[in-house]
Amino acid sequence: MADQEALRHSRHALLDGIDDEGVQAIQSSRILIIGAGGLGCPAATYLTACGIGTLHWVDGDQVDATNLARQTLFGPNDIGSPKVLAGQKALERLNPNVHYIPEARFADEDFLNQAVPLADVVLDCTDQWAMRQLINACCVAHHRPLVSAAAIEWSGQLMAIDPAVPEQACYACVFDPKTEPMAHACGAYGVLSPMVGAMGCLQAAEALKILVRRGHTGSSLGAQTQRLTLLDMRQGSWQQLNISRNPHCPVCAKAA
Ligand SMILES: [Zn+2]
Repeated sequence: MADQEALRHSRHALLDGIDDEGVQAIQSSRILIIGAGGLGCPAATYLTACGIGTLHWVDGDQVDATNLARQTLFGPNDIGSPKVLAGQKALERLNPNVHYIPEARFADEDFLNQAVPLADVVLDCTDQWAMRQLINACCVAHHRPLVSAAAIEWSGQLMAIDPAVPEQACYACVFDPKTEPMAHACGAYGVLSPMVGAMGCLQAAEALKILVRRGHTGSSLGAQTQRLTLLDMRQGSWQQLNISRNPHCPVCAKAA
């Protein structure tokens, strides 16, 4: 088994910026993923397959038929099952050595205040504005890194926040909690299936970079200028917007 594990990690160990020290950081990590939908499934798939230590996964939804086009851990036989339990079953086939902590409930402030401090990186894979803001506020309060993504129709956005990097903007620095956009859950608007897959994979990549940078004394992976990444899959175009901390942010300015 030890040899097989070494082989699982071998292509990361060869990567400049990760190597053996980075692999150890990945292996010993604990990741909290909030949401087991179109973003959470691909993010959990890649993080599990590449051998994180613990996956803490929370979602109170059950699988339904509208999910199957993009939530690729689920099949027709899973309809009606809690997503995190059906998802864990699929992930265990990919990697039985990960420690899974599935929680078939919806996250709330109490849950987040317990779960966020235990996580090395938090992934926001939800589709609700208020929940995004709550997750961000908890990550700011507990100084935990957050990788937030969203996808709607043909568009996706991604933002990584690591409080260990000086002057990082938080989610509320960029998206003012008081100016809620129109309801944008994909149930109302539709979403291109590979779009959510792409954004979930990008979240997994950003999470790995944060883990490696924090666990690897020589790696500066991902510490470059903080950006908001926007993907328009209809046009096939990417935009990278430099973002900066809002000194009047209602969340992180208050916490600082
Ligand atoms: Zn802020």
